[in-house]
Amino acid sequence: RQAQYRRLRNKPSVTKDGVEISLQMNAGLLVDLPHLVEAGAAGVGLFRTELQFMLASSFPRMKEQRAQYEQVLAAADGKPVTFRSLDIGGDKVLPYLRSIQEENPAMGWRALRLGLDRPGLLRTQIRALLMAAAGRDLKLMFPMVAEVDEFLLARGLVEKELKHLRRHGHGVPDKIRLGVMVEVPSLLFQLDELMHEVDFISVGSNDLFQFFCAVDRGNTRVADRFDPLSLAFLRALKRIVDKAGAAHVPVTLCGELAGKPLEAMALIGLGFRDLSMSPASLGPVKAMLRTLDAGRLTARLLPRLEPGHPEGDIRDFLKRFA
Ligand code: PEP
Ligand code: MG
Repeated sequence: RQAQYRRLRNKPSVTKDGVEISLQMNAGLLVDLPHLVEAGAAGVGLFRTELQFMLASSFPRMKEQRAQYEQVLAAADGKPVTFRSLDIGGDKVLPYLRSIQEENPAMGWRALRLGLDRPGLLRTQIRALLMAAAGRDLKLMFPMVAEVDEFLLARGLVEKELKHLRRHGHGVPDKIRLGVMVEVPSLLFQLDELMHEVDFISVGSNDLFQFFCAVDRGNTRVADRFDPLSLAFLRALKRIVDKAGAAHVPVTLCGELAGKPLEAMALIGLGFRDLSMSPASLGPVKAMLRTLDAGRLTARLLPRLEPGHPEGDIRDFLKRFA
């Protein structure tokens, strides 16, 4: 198998009926970057910046953050990298960050919420990213956005930092694209407003599913109780991909779903054309999609999402189709 996947590495990522699918990889540390070439990924669709913070014994200084991002961009060698701002708090505790005990850390003071309440921290990270990407493209997205306004506040911080750097004669990125992770269900009902503001979105299906079904992603007792390939969740995903398409906003899906061949097949059937996954999943997903008739799948899958369709389990249908 491994040899078979390696052979696929430089083969086009195109379905049997000619639909191009961009396969990117998720990363969090510099040591992940060689996988870009080894696995043949088109870019880094999700760079989890909190990893550097979790490994440190005190807050990484601006210079250290900047050095890390510079190294990541250099290692990516021109391939696009989508950085995600800090997703700490909740269960990702930093020993050096004073926090309170929370009953529901996943829904607590984490990610962008923490960043907006401690703007010094977020601004430092933003400055490090802007400086690291001077003369190149910067793609940055914000996690755990529940209201469009939170994104506007975050964008405001980017604009402030940009002004500051320009005033002091520092280089800045040639192009900045700012996006939002769609991983809180409230965004499903603000998609029109969201698309107006963002340059791109990325679906964080791990958290989105957790909050959508109220099922703790880390709790084995309940983790398998609900199926992401169920009517409700597939409808939610379709809503996102449709709205993004109508607004011409690029959309990626970077949760674990993207890395499982059957689930990835369903995502392509729904209309996703850009998936980001752990490097080890690239081979299996590419092997799947190169044998897939995407048009036929879409034609057979979408009617199953309509009300009143008699056919039962969608996972069973997908398995039969596969
Ligand atoms: C997600 O929630 O789907 C995601 C990609 O981010 P993380 O797993 O880091 O929360
Ligand atoms: Mg998440």
